[in-house]
Formats: sequence, C-alpha cells, structure tokens
Amino acid sequence: MYEAVIGLEVHVQLSTASKIFSGSSTAFGAEPNTQASLIDLGMPGVLPVPNAKAFEMAIKFGLAIDAKIEQESIFDRKNYFYPDLPKGYQISQFEKPIVGPGRVTITLDDGNTKTINVTRAHLEEDAGKSIHDVFDGMTGIDLNRAGTPLLEIVSEPELHSAREAVAYLKVIHSIVRYLDISDGNMAEGSMRCDCNVSVRPEGSELLGTRTEIKNVNSFRFVEKAIDTEIHRQIEILEDGGRVVQETRLYDPDKDETRPMRSKEEANDYRYFPDPDLLPVFIDDSFIETCRIKLPELPDARKARYIAEYGITDYDASVLVADRDLADYFAEVANMSGEGKLAANWVMGSVLAELNQANLAIAEFPVSSRQLSDLLGRIKDDTLNSKTAKTVFEALITGDGEVDTIIEEQGLVQMTDTGAIEAVVDEVISENSHEVANYRAASSDKRSKMLGFFVGQVMKKSQGKANPQAVNQILASKLT
Ligand code: ADP
Ligand code: MG
Repeated sequence: MYEAVIGLEVHVQLSTASKIFSGSSTAFGAEPNTQASLIDLGMPGVLPVPNAKAFEMAIKFGLAIDAKIEQESIFDRKNYFYPDLPKGYQISQFEKPIVGPGRVTITLDDGNTKTINVTRAHLEEDAGKSIHDVFDGMTGIDLNRAGTPLLEIVSEPELHSAREAVAYLKVIHSIVRYLDISDGNMAEGSMRCDCNVSVRPEGSELLGTRTEIKNVNSFRFVEKAIDTEIHRQIEILEDGGRVVQETRLYDPDKDETRPMRSKEEANDYRYFPDPDLLPVFIDDSFIETCRIKLPELPDARKARYIAEYGITDYDASVLVADRDLADYFAEVANMSGEGKLAANWVMGSVLAELNQANLAIAEFPVSSRQLSDLLGRIKDDTLNSKTAKTVFEALITGDGEVDTIIEEQGLVQMTDTGAIEAVVDEVISENSHEVANYRAASSDKRSKMLGFFVGQVMKKSQGKANPQAVNQILASKLT
C-alpha cells in the first residue's frame, strides 16, 4: 500500500596528503590535536588556500559518474556552532558545487539494473571529533580531522527500498575505491551516509515528509536503519498521524531510530560565500588531465571479465566490486589460464576464508601465484577436489608451496587403476555383508548403495583415489 522514497547523502573522505585549505597532514591515528593548524581552526587573519588535489579527485569522481563538471564553483560558509567546530562555520559548497548532475547504475536483487541520478557532489571540510568515552564525565575534542577534505555526494530521491539504497552505496564505494580517491573505510568514518527516508501511498507522485538519519557507518546498518524507519513511518500513517520532518539517529543495539536532541540540529545555516576564498574556475585542459588519469571503472571491468574469462554476469559483478579482489582474480586466471575455475575458487574458498578471518584480500596469505599453481595441479589431475582443499588449507597456514605440500603430505591422486583395484578388493572382502545386500538389491537401489563403498575406498586411500576411477572399478567388481 505504501512506497518508500529514499535519497542518500554520502560523505567520502578524500585521501589527499594534506588538508583541503592548509598544509597540515591528514594521516589517521596521530596524537590528538597535533595535526590542526591555525588555518584549520579558522584563527583570525589566516587565509585558506584550496588544495588542487582535492579538486582533481572530485572531478575524477564526476567524470566516473558521467556528471557535468562545473566550470565555476564557489565555497560558502555554513554557520553553526558545535564543540568540534570551534571556528563556528564549516567551509562547504552550496549554490555552486564542483560536480553537477550525473548518474550511476545499480544492480537489483532480481538481476535487473536501474539508473539512479546523482544531484550533485560538492567539496567541503570535515569538522573535528568529540570523544565521549575517554574522560570520566567530560568530553574530549580532537581537532586533527578538522579541515580534512570531504566529497559529499547527493542522490535524487529515486531509491525505493533499503536494498536499493545499499546497492547504490556499494556502487559509490566501489567507484571511489577504483579511482583511489578514498580508502572508503566505513568503520573508520572515511565514508559515512545520511539516509533521507519518506513513504507515500502507492501510485502517488507527491513526496511524503522525510526524516534524515544521520551518520550511518556500515552497509548493514544502512539497510537496517532504513527498513526500521520505513516501518515506523508507515505505522504513524496507518494510525492517522503525520510524520514530523526531523533528524534522527539509528541505534543498532535497539534496532530503532530516535530523534536527535534538538540542540544538535541547526536548521538555519546562514550560508554565504566565504570572503577568504575566490571562486574556483576549472578549465577544459584541467578536466582533460583528470580524464586521462581515470582507471578502468567497475562496469567496464565487469564487461571485460565476462568477455575475456567466459564467466557469468553474476560472477563478474561479485569479482569486480572490490578492485583488489578483481586484480587478484585476474592474476590467478591469467597465470593458470583457467578463468572459470579461478572464479569458482576466488568466489568460493577464498571469499569464505576472507569473511571468516575478517581479512582484506591484500592481507590474504595465499598469493595469486600459489592459487594458480593449485589450479594447475587440479587441471593435470594430480589433485582431486578433496585433496585440493587440503592443499589450500595448508597454503593458508603457510606450510610452503603447492608441490612441496603435495609431496610432503603424500597427496598425489591415485590414478593407477591397479592400485585402486587393490583397495577396492580390500573393501569388498572386508564388507561381505554389504556386498551381499548390494548384489540382492534392484538396480535403482544399487546406485544409492554404491556411495557407501566409494566412501570406504576414499577413506582407505586417504582421499587420494581418483573418484571417477573408483566408481567405475567398484561398479564392475560388485556386479
Ligand atoms: P537538505 O540539504 O536540507 O538535506 P536536500 O533537498 O538537498 O535537503 O535533500 C537532501 C537529500 O534528501 C537528497 O538526497 C534528496 O534526494 C533527499 N530527499 C529530499 N526530499 C526527500 C523525500 N521527501 N523523501 C526522501 N528523500 C528525500
Ligand atoms: Mg541533508
């Protein structure tokens, strides 16, 4: 009966070496308040100077989403006071952002794609951080983050479910990682998301009253926060009430959203152009310099992987979502010459291990060379699926190279039919009761019963017998 309408404001911390208007370092994890200069603090008499690298990154993002790059952009002061913003205003872009309208393509759960329009993306500075959990009864302020460049990416209200919102956010994440303009680390706050949510009667063209859930910091929480908020709003409307436009916070422990204290809300920002910063004019040659530096982007890479490695659309989209994973896969596929097998292993065993150990592919102990060697030994029948798994585990624990592991653990697949026959004979003579049952059974029951004997032979051969050969020899010896 209701349709949800969602628009996201995504803040991406740009990975410039210095701040957006000063030379202070942006390195994460320094001693508190050692990386904030007089400019970051907005002391009287200082003059901010825009960081060209931040513009380059913003423009690359704009080009990647097929957006209009604005020739003239203006920095404005957004006025509000908060302890982590002692200078009383944040420098942002209001009426003239650097990046104008663009678009991204998301893939829905049913495999269909949908275009989401991006309204704009603008440059701004970050504020400091309030630290509530270190000093008893007091709040600490760390201003190291003050002046760190952010790109705020604003979507049109065109997302219609929490799943779509997450799919959109993942595309943005993937693009900024490919462009290498941010580490995109949501847990460390390098990428944060404000979720604007409203609901309206199905079929209505009018937008409902929205709420804005601030600073959600993981894909999972974005999905849960939006779902929870949609349900809350529908319940209000069902009860004949009205949704109040307000800023809310998501509490993951209680899985609920609640209004922020009104003190934290400042609705009249009294924007005005920053008198210390001139309008910035971007010429075509600067835009072209940025365009030349664009890497291959996720959509292009996906199409290439499908064509080059013969993998499915779905497999390609999983593999390219993360640039490092995509590179790893391509290395394994190229070295082994086995695209499909490489895709199966990377999406199966490798991703499972990364998830379980909570590792990034860059930290994964098995190199692309080692995995490629392993695939080679599967292809030449030295290993079967079971022993391949054993070798893979050994590679993870760092037991050496593929061939050394195969040799030391005696894992060479038994393909010599004579040797397999000997084991089969042993199993047959040790299980005379089962053999009699098998021979008495009808042929459709037999195929089920064969599994028992196969299991016994595999066990006796320590998993090394070639499964096809075992099946054949057993079937002929048992009749
Ligand atoms: P503000 O700057 O005051 O937050 P904007 O109009 O710029 O407001 O919108 C911010 C975000 O809210 C955008 O992503 C936009 O798509 C989204 N939005 C605006 N109206 C609605 C609505 N009624 N329901 C859901 N999202 C909305
Ligand atoms: Mg907003």
